[in-house]
Amino acid sequence: MSAPIVIAGAGVGGLTAALSLARAGRRALVLERAAKIEEVGAGFQIAPNAGRVLAGLGLEPMLAAAALEPQAINIRRGRDGAVLARLDLSGARERWGAPFRVFHRADLQQILLQGALAEELVEIRTGARVGDFEDRSGVVSLRVHTSGGLEQIDASGLVGADGQRSAVRAHLHRTERDAPIYSGATAWRALVPAELAPAPLRAQESNLWLSPGAHVVHYPLRDGSIINVVVIVEEPPRQQDGASILSLDGPSLARELDRLRSAPMLRELVEAGAVWRHWPLFARPPLKSWSRGAVTLLGDAAHPMMPFLAQGAAQAIEDADALGRAFTQFGATAETAFAAYERARIARASQVVRASRRQGEYFHMGGPAAFARDLAIRALGGRGMLARNAWLYR
Ligand SMILES: Cc1cc2nc3c(=O)[nH]c(=O)nc-3n(C[C@H](O)[C@H](O)[C@H](O)COP(=O)(O)OP(=O)(O)OC[C@H]3O[C@@H](n4cnc5c(N)ncnc54)[C@H](O)[C@@H]3O)c2cc1C
Repeated sequence: MSAPIVIAGAGVGGLTAALSLARAGRRALVLERAAKIEEVGAGFQIAPNAGRVLAGLGLEPMLAAAALEPQAINIRRGRDGAVLARLDLSGARERWGAPFRVFHRADLQQILLQGALAEELVEIRTGARVGDFEDRSGVVSLRVHTSGGLEQIDASGLVGADGQRSAVRAHLHRTERDAPIYSGATAWRALVPAELAPAPLRAQESNLWLSPGAHVVHYPLRDGSIINVVVIVEEPPRQQDGASILSLDGPSLARELDRLRSAPMLRELVEAGAVWRHWPLFARPPLKSWSRGAVTLLGDAAHPMMPFLAQGAAQAIEDADALGRAFTQFGATAETAFAAYERARIARASQVVRASRRQGEYFHMGGPAAFARDLAIRALGGRGMLARNAWLYR
């Protein structure tokens, strides 16, 4: 039997890639450094462009059971909560072939994991950290760190789906200045029990609040009993003590945000979060190429992006789909398939990276620019605002 394609990382990108490769008739071995495959307690918006791919992989019944489908997105002015536009999402399935959905991250992770485990061609090993590797004309020799010591594994190709701080990327681009740099913005995330949130914010809808230098996104999860809230603020980097994760309680974060002069309803929502986890956002310079020989990158490892269009995981899912297709169409060797995959994906993913950054600038405007933006949002209305993102969802 030929050596498998090794996928480093069992995040959304790695697991979807394993499924997609199996559908293309390829063996995939997923190596995950964590001892257990689990996701942080937070939410994911999965836009129609990614939902279509996941449904195409046969996951639709599980997705439908775990997801909540928000009926609309309300764009609100941060200082008083005025709704500038209401984007009706009810026609998404007809227009883009899949609905807008939101998931608890752990639920989506489990769906992908169970889907991958059900494939005979997929093997998943946890507690296996991919170290360095050599590509010897088509056979990639990997050094893998496990609790039992260092192992050597031979692969017919290596996909680095190992996230923002990818070891595979570091190994491919040793000589380039490629370190992650703090973007100037931090995400604070919390899950708030719906019964503690102000009543108007408990509806089955997403909300986006715009303030100078900050924005807030929230939506209900599962049966609507919890609300996923993300507060993004421009702030200097904070000291983080080793591996420990900085967190704040609701009243402390609300006090810090007082400078935003937010609407009382928004402040109440922030105060209701028991534990706010600090998530500094890092950017990396774009790569001109993702692949070298029988090694390539996927998802955040290839194209980390600001989360302002909620497309990071969606683009990783699109990558995974393109990877499977490349093997079906051009896949005599990993090298040819990876080159085809990169050709199919790099322009679009780079476009989304740039658009995500611009979206942040748009959201965080202040003064007269914000006033003009708000007028423009009102003039465009929900339909017009949704149409601005049609290129993403198609
Ligand atoms: C605040 C915030 C909100 C977001 N909201 C959304 C959203 O609503 N919708 C959306 O589409 N995207 C969203 N994103 C982006 C999304 O979280 C990421 O783009 C996505 O998780 C990337 O998936 P991935 O599989 O590429 O990487 P990751 O999810 O980072 O997975 C990488 C995996 O690789 C493992 N790993 C790392 N190194 C090694 C190694 N050397 N060997 C083996 N395993 C390794 C890690 O343990 C991890 O399991 C958001 C991001 C943030 C910060």
